[in-house]
Amino acid sequence: MHNIPEAPVIQGATHLHSGKVRDLYRLEDGHLLMVASDRISAFDFVLDTPIPDKGEILTRMSLWWFGQLADLVPNHVHSTDVPEAVKGRAIVCEELGMYPVECVARGYLTGSGLIDYQATGEVCGVRLPRGLVESSRLPEPIFTPATKAALGDHDENVSFESVVGDIGASAAAALRDLTLAVYSRADGLARERGIILADTKLEFGSRLAPQAGDNAGVGTTVLADEVLTPDSSRYWPAAEWEPGRAQNSYDKQIVRNWLLSPESGWQRSSGSAPPPLPTEVVDRTRARYVEAFEMLTGERF
Ligand code: ATP
Ligand code: MG
Repeated sequence: MHNIPEAPVIQGATHLHSGKVRDLYRLEDGHLLMVASDRISAFDFVLDTPIPDKGEILTRMSLWWFGQLADLVPNHVHSTDVPEAVKGRAIVCEELGMYPVECVARGYLTGSGLIDYQATGEVCGVRLPRGLVESSRLPEPIFTPATKAALGDHDENVSFESVVGDIGASAAAALRDLTLAVYSRADGLARERGIILADTKLEFGSRLAPQAGDNAGVGTTVLADEVLTPDSSRYWPAAEWEPGRAQNSYDKQIVRNWLLSPESGWQRSSGSAPPPLPTEVVDRTRARYVEAFEMLTGERF
């Protein structure tokens, strides 16, 4: 279902990989260049219409969060001195040996967590109390790992034991503890600013080469990828939170609602690609990303 456009050529960088939203390159000095495009995906399609500044907004948000978390876990950011063509929406990062685990923390029940709970009373092997509903707050945040699916497939929720089987008990425990620590820090910070962090997905890697400073050694667990952006997290306006229904998330809700409305003329069940977005939908979506960025960071975009 993916229709990822060809990654732009960047002088001095070799293209390695493109996901739905980001393009990854290697620089001549061996570092990675992670570029956030303005692409937006919905219902597993990369839409034809970009959201202006989305790449820059999400890059700034990710960098802000890396800073907020720096005392909890080292991160892969090497510098923000990036080629002119991708200025403001790329990060130079340290290449890591990535753990093959999508490290998800959930404080609220929704999405695949809700589906699993309704079927089994558990999420990723964690038994939850009876009677929880869509968007319920969990008694405490839980670690619900997933394995990264091949392009086009959905990630698959797995048990903690299965992660232990894949990467060993001590690495699995470290990822779980770090994921929950990051979630708690981030949810607390967001909450003070009127936003609920319902859940988030983190990726970690293991240091391949020694670095300067503390936590410098090979094998150190390092926070990678993007962190706590609306593409990797569910943010909800706290004032509107109400268990028992789906929440309006701080990201693609405007796009999803429009695509599902009669105006779009698109039938999700048709399997065909969604139509281009009207300017008004693009503008409101961009404004929503800016609003989330400004509320969380207290900075102006
Ligand atoms: P999708 O929406 O399909 O996840 P995306 O646009 O987020 O796509 P990815 O396919 O996730 O893009 O591309 C980013 C890739 O970079 C991921 O495979 C991630 O594991 C990897 N990555 C992130 N940080 C590092 C790092 N420091 N070292 C090596 N690989 C990394
Ligand atoms: Mg990704």
